[in-house]
Amino acid sequence: MAVETVASATDSPEAAETVDLGPATALSCRECSARFPLGPNFVCLECFGPLEVAYNLPSGDPEGLRKQIEAGPNNIWRYAPLLPVPADVATKPNLEPGFTKLIKADRLAAELGVTGGLWVKDDSGNPTHSFKDRVVAIAVEAARAFGFTTLSCSSTGNLAGAVGAAAVRAGLKSCVFIPHDLEPAKIITAAVYGGELVGIEGNYDDVNRFCSELIGDPAGEGWGFTNINLRPYYGEGSKTLAYEICEQLGWRLPDNLIIPIGSGSQLTKIDKGLQELIKLGLVEDKPYKIYGAQAKGCDPVSAAYKAGHDAIRPVKPDTIAKSIAIGNPADGPYVIDIARRTGGAVEDVTDPEIVDAIKLLARTEGVFAETAGGTTFAVLRKLLEAGVIDPAEETVAINTGDGLKTLDGLSDSTGLSATIRPTLDSFREAGLV
Ligand SMILES: *Cc1c(COP(=O)(O)O)cnc(C)c1O
Ligand SMILES: [Zn+2]
Repeated sequence: MAVETVASATDSPEAAETVDLGPATALSCRECSARFPLGPNFVCLECFGPLEVAYNLPSGDPEGLRKQIEAGPNNIWRYAPLLPVPADVATKPNLEPGFTKLIKADRLAAELGVTGGLWVKDDSGNPTHSFKDRVVAIAVEAARAFGFTTLSCSSTGNLAGAVGAAAVRAGLKSCVFIPHDLEPAKIITAAVYGGELVGIEGNYDDVNRFCSELIGDPAGEGWGFTNINLRPYYGEGSKTLAYEICEQLGWRLPDNLIIPIGSGSQLTKIDKGLQELIKLGLVEDKPYKIYGAQAKGCDPVSAAYKAGHDAIRPVKPDTIAKSIAIGNPADGPYVIDIARRTGGAVEDVTDPEIVDAIKLLARTEGVFAETAGGTTFAVLRKLLEAGVIDPAEETVAINTGDGLKTLDGLSDSTGLSATIRPTLDSFREAGLV
């Protein structure tokens, strides 16, 4: 109920108990399981492992819970009982992200030789056209609970826009940081919401390092960085992709999921969401495989996976898939764990393969993916061709963003069929029919 100040929420466990984040009870270390009160913290004080949200989830009546969810709003708040948010979250001004389309992709399936069923989860349908609206919506609730007045982030582009828009709706200020050389559409669609947008001379990893310094500095006081000091809460937003996919399939698990990897948060939390659905009895337990997708120009997770390593060696990104151009991905090792545990894989594709896949998805399903989505569908195609993914199984691939934000990669090879004079003769001469 009460809105705690940052200091009291972090300093005293008693104060933290008055933070109302619904079923969330604590932060727990992914490595050593040490528990900490709910607060704007992201690193374990015992072992420096990442913290994640621990819950008291509503178990025991799966049928009742399923009905409650189905009666909820057509956005992520239908899953509020499974998220670190107050029960009345849906009544506050917010962007109402989620419940995006799950498209049965029969034409793409035919083209790729998939016989078991193929679906596109199209998250370009979110308010700022990427899956980042999901994670930011949860981070906003944490920011409110901890008394932050400014919303911030280090961003590869989509997060910047999602934070700018969500801050406006929530009545918070925003100041976000991006690499200065992002695609023009990402800069404009982030700047238009009126908050501060700062370009940093460097790549995303430089931006992220800078923001981490800002958190300890008086200049960043009162600031909630969605993907840094609010990262445990932020990450939980991606669970809603898992919930929606299963609900939209009729409350069941697919066999295969293909997910792009930037920091690896999304992939990791989709797995967490699937595990929760199984534990709560909302879906029948059965094996599923998770596949991670990277661009060859930024493939630290794929390279480590293929080499059989557990640790990630950072790289300097050089790819058109800028949304996922993170050279030192925080959750990379957990992505590798999940790919191995579920029997999936991590694969990478070249920039030309990404462009081809964007065009393939557009021409078969009428979905215009951004370069991160192109990466996902190029990896799907590559894994099918390599016989790694079984075409007789059910597969869901996620398009995480909108092609309108990353036109640059296509401008050389996509355009007019012909330019003609406004006469029938001229049209016939063009040879299109
Ligand atoms: C941020 C982003 C990703 C990667 O998400 P992570 O959680 O950082 O792995 C993928 N696709 C798009 C479009 C993004 O904006
Ligand atoms: Zn720990």
